[in-house]
Amino acid sequence: MKESEEEMFRVNQDYQKLPGSYLFSTIAKKVKAYQDANPDAAIIRLGIGDVTRPLSKSVIDALHVAVDEMGDESTFRGYAPDLGYDFLREAIVKIDYAKRGCDIAADEIFVSDGAKSDSGNIQELFSKDCRIAVCDPVYPVYVDSNVMGGRCGTYDADKEQWSDIIYMPTTAENGFVPEFPKETPDVIYLCLPNNPTGTTIPKSELQKWVDYANKNKALIIYDAAYEAYISESDVAHSIYECEGAKTCAIEIRSFSKNAGFTGLRLGFTVVPKELVFDGVSVNGMWARRHGTKFNGAPYIVQRAGEAVYSEAGQKEIRELVGYYMQNAALIRSGLADAGYEVYGGVNAPYIWLKTPNQMTSWEFFDYLLEKANVVGTPGSGFGPSGEHYFRLTAFGTVENSKIALERIKAL
Ligand code: PLP
Repeated sequence: MKESEEEMFRVNQDYQKLPGSYLFSTIAKKVKAYQDANPDAAIIRLGIGDVTRPLSKSVIDALHVAVDEMGDESTFRGYAPDLGYDFLREAIVKIDYAKRGCDIAADEIFVSDGAKSDSGNIQELFSKDCRIAVCDPVYPVYVDSNVMGGRCGTYDADKEQWSDIIYMPTTAENGFVPEFPKETPDVIYLCLPNNPTGTTIPKSELQKWVDYANKNKALIIYDAAYEAYISESDVAHSIYECEGAKTCAIEIRSFSKNAGFTGLRLGFTVVPKELVFDGVSVNGMWARRHGTKFNGAPYIVQRAGEAVYSEAGQKEIRELVGYYMQNAALIRSGLADAGYEVYGGVNAPYIWLKTPNQMTSWEFFDYLLEKANVVGTPGSGFGPSGEHYFRLTAFGTVENSKIALERIKAL
């Protein structure tokens, strides 16, 4: 029997350091309060980065076949292999990598239930004292998961910054190209094309980061969740298109935004065998983590993922991405015509705008919600340099995007 308070179960204090609630739950609360007070308001949501188009025919057909297989004794499948089925890993190697000239092998691919899990879990591989660098603004999972891992120091609520995180501002001032930080990091998170700014960098700039990481023996975590949206030819689709990336980079991919799997759940992470730090194979470590903590993505979902790589599947995802990018072009040009300073929307489904009249991001959020009944995402929720910016997504329907745009223009 425990006798003193000191002996009782203690929670992970690092979790207690996380400020406030997650960005999207704050938005949801605000929108609900507004909708409750104004039940007739026809709110258009261009806030959260979720897709709206249904799954494509090839994917649905593959799901049906796989479901039937699961109901037949001779084709039933139990636990999937920890690292993913060969049929999917081989399709990934062929279409995502070999076709682009990247020498990635199937045993360097780890299939998962999505990029959020992998981008949040990958920090388990880092030692406690690793210095983390992130682009600012960026997808909040990188910082928050490192806070949970006890790696970020203390939070300064005024500056909205963690003492031990190295922030690399990417704003209009530097053309959204991160600069090498003054302090040398151990881990560099790059999300390209970037969420939330919708911008990216050419392959020649990415190569500089690969060279920098190799020179400084740092690890790059490259989140390429929006790879399918790249439209410009000088932009790399994978970091492994850069020379030397296999000795410094882990790449994370998702089926959410290219094929609409946000509700189906599938992703993968590439950990090259050449990635060796402290004499330890990172591939081996990730295999160990995956094997210990993950029992595989569902068979039917992996079959659906395989269908994405079929000829018809590839055509369908190009159409899907094209649909959203049509919205992106519409929103981007419409806002520019209305006098807004706009960025992104060319290689990503996000449009990043500068708030007018020096409004804060949250002031502009309230303004847009109340005056146009349009929901977007305040830029400050993605990092201190996101203040005075605002994110709109192209994931709505064309009809709604047009209506939202007209309302914003009319303000
Ligand atoms: N990475 C980035 C940069 C994202 O923006 C998102 C989702 O919005 C994810 C990862 C999550 O992807 P998934 O749905 O595969 O978990």
